[in-house]
Amino acid sequence: MKVSDALALHGGSPVRSRMLPYGRQDVSDADIAAVVEVLRSDWLTTGPVVAAFERACAARAGARHGVAVSSGTAALHAAMRALDVRAGDEVIVPAMTFAATANCARYEGATPVFADVDRDTLLIDPASAERAITPRTRAVIAVDYAGQPADYDSLAAILKPRGISLVADACHSIGGASNGRPVGTLARLSCFSFHPVKHVTTGEGGAVVADEAPLADRMRVFRNHGIVSDHRQREAQGAFAYDMVELGYNYRITDIQCALGLQQLERLPAFIARRRQIAARYDAAFAQLPAVRPLAVRRGAEHAYHLYVVRLDLEALRAGRSEIFRALRAENIGVNVHYVPVHLHPYYRQTQGTHQGMCPVAECAYEGLLSLPMFPAMSDSDVDDVIEAVEKVVVFYRR
Ligand SMILES: *Cc1c(COP(=O)(O)O)cnc(C)c1O
Repeated sequence: MKVSDALALHGGSPVRSRMLPYGRQDVSDADIAAVVEVLRSDWLTTGPVVAAFERACAARAGARHGVAVSSGTAALHAAMRALDVRAGDEVIVPAMTFAATANCARYEGATPVFADVDRDTLLIDPASAERAITPRTRAVIAVDYAGQPADYDSLAAILKPRGISLVADACHSIGGASNGRPVGTLARLSCFSFHPVKHVTTGEGGAVVADEAPLADRMRVFRNHGIVSDHRQREAQGAFAYDMVELGYNYRITDIQCALGLQQLERLPAFIARRRQIAARYDAAFAQLPAVRPLAVRRGAEHAYHLYVVRLDLEALRAGRSEIFRALRAENIGVNVHYVPVHLHPYYRQTQGTHQGMCPVAECAYEGLLSLPMFPAMSDSDVDDVIEAVEKVVVFYRR
């Protein structure tokens, strides 16, 4: 920001006196009490509350099996192992996502191949995914960017005849649905994150849901060092020996975390209802502000609104996204940017030779992306502060 602009814009006082974060957990006294109850119990990890949380995740997602792990990233990694993704394989991922969506393929020695996204929704473009298919393609990971389900019907029509697995990175979309079918039933494996900015939190945590028992069984072994049977099963059988059958990891989640998760899942419908109210308030305000364009919502999509993403019309503004971003932060609005297209990260440029120009829609969208604060504990007056600050900054920088 130029000094003169900064002075003109902030001659008055900022819209808010304290920073409003872009996302924040909502932990109630009842949530805390449930955690404390586990702390007084016999099982801090690999106990009954983990199993109960897994059943609740599966039920919420409309799937037969749930496997809870230590993070959303671990969930994606477990999904790759369950599908036997390995060195020499390719996994197609959208360019517009968090790095973990691509990294999980690398963990297993496979190569992520970046597909471009749809101009209006920034969800993986099925036509671009189709063009990226080679004889080495093992799986496609669709990302429910910002919280609306990707176009799984079109993806399945392309992938099924070729025997390529479809995985959902549903870290943004738990509780969402597509044409009445819940997130969790739209792909062979669906991965969730329970990081504090996501809908449901366990502090750190994640889960994969699936209908196929062999996939769930493989992931349970994988998250426990590759050992078949956990210590509870051995105790029940009076056995001491155990077999490690593959190289797994310690990706277990604790009963302490799952107690919080169980409580939070109960509250998910209320969380989502509030997120939708906030989105509707933003939508109405930005309909009057042509330089600020919310993402399109697909027909039949029940959006879970992990994020509220807008695209700035940079043609209509005499400042770039960085200046708008800094100006909004100066108003104490905790805006964010989701995401740097993954193929542009130095790691992928250096290891795979990816470069600017490979996914032009994602790259172009990135220049104008802004995520506004969105979390269920926001009050209406918090939402109004965001709207007021966006109007103030955009009107100031209007051409
Ligand atoms: C949060 C997130 C992840 C990773 O989840 P963690 O729990 O932070 O490991 C993966 N993919 C997407 C799209 C995410 O938003």
